Amino acid sequence: MLKKLAIILPCYNEEEILPHTIRKMRALIRGMIKKKKISADSKICFVNDGSRDDTWNIIKKTCAKDKLFCAVNLSRNFGHQGAILAGMYEVCADVYVTIDADLQDNPDCIPQMLEKINSGCDIVYGVRDSRQTDSFFKRTTAVLYYRLLKFLGVNIVYNHADFRMMTKRAVETLKQFPERNLFLRAIVPLLGFKSAQVYYDRTARQAGETKYPLKKMVALAWNGVSNFSIVPLRLVTFLGFFVCFLSVLFLCFVIYRWSVRGTIVGWASMVTIITVFSGVQLVSLGIIGEYLAKIFVEVKKRPLFIVEDKIGFEQAC
Ligand code: UDP
Ligand code: MG
Repeated sequence: MLKKLAIILPCYNEEEILPHTIRKMRALIRGMIKKKKISADSKICFVNDGSRDDTWNIIKKTCAKDKLFCAVNLSRNFGHQGAILAGMYEVCADVYVTIDADLQDNPDCIPQMLEKINSGCDIVYGVRDSRQTDSFFKRTTAVLYYRLLKFLGVNIVYNHADFRMMTKRAVETLKQFPERNLFLRAIVPLLGFKSAQVYYDRTARQAGETKYPLKKMVALAWNGVSNFSIVPLRLVTFLGFFVCFLSVLFLCFVIYRWSVRGTIVGWASMVTIITVFSGVQLVSLGIIGEYLAKIFVEVKKRPLFIVEDKIGFEQAC
């Protein structure tokens, strides 16, 4: 039997690019239905993540005209990761693909991903082959970041973001992860299951600008480190031991000076010691605080997304 495919596209203020995305996805999915690769009730699902521009109106009009489309409207901006989850949890399908609405990740890989699913995989990761079109800053920070995560022992697919295909079974299993601080690209490998990778070149955004300003990027990057690794906390402990060791050495030096030349307590050395030690203590406290803050967010168990409207859904799951 043919599988029902659902394509999930999170959208935040994407009015400029949406008409292009709609055309491209419609042609692709129609083609796949025609070639009998997926079932005729497959869906393209937009998740409007609290956009303040015309995004929701464009989506509504598209859904009204064409049964291929459906949409979920979130009550406010929950962020990219929340929007992806909303789409996967609200739509019923056999296979899910998540892809950014700006189509920087090549949707033409979807048939190839489906082949991997049909051959027994539960998860297929879209992996960026080249980042020529990303800015120099984004490219270098991304490479350094993936290296850092690896060093910290976080299992993550190199150069994979959130373009991936998952079976219903994998999505159902994902629901067992109740984390509030979301970093899907590190959670999905924790599911286990057989997985594969499909490679593509990431292209430049054709319209609009990035919805991931530096602040959001840093927040997501920190989530990746602190949700999956306790190495920073351990580093604090090592740092503490190292500083203790240094202070013992310094104490020996002070005793030596005292015994040889009498006590000369210099202002400069005192100030240096105080500032260095205060700095180390504040950084250590800060890192512990960051982890505490995570626990604070987790224990409240607030919803990851709130659905305000749903359109284009014929059957309930
Ligand atoms: N996005 C979202 N909510 C947000 C920020 C972004 O749903 O709060 C969506 C956005 O519309 C796009 C995808 O997430 O479909 C990736 O964002 P973007 O292309 O701006 O990120 P970049 O490619 O620059 O990293
Ligand atoms: Mg993009």
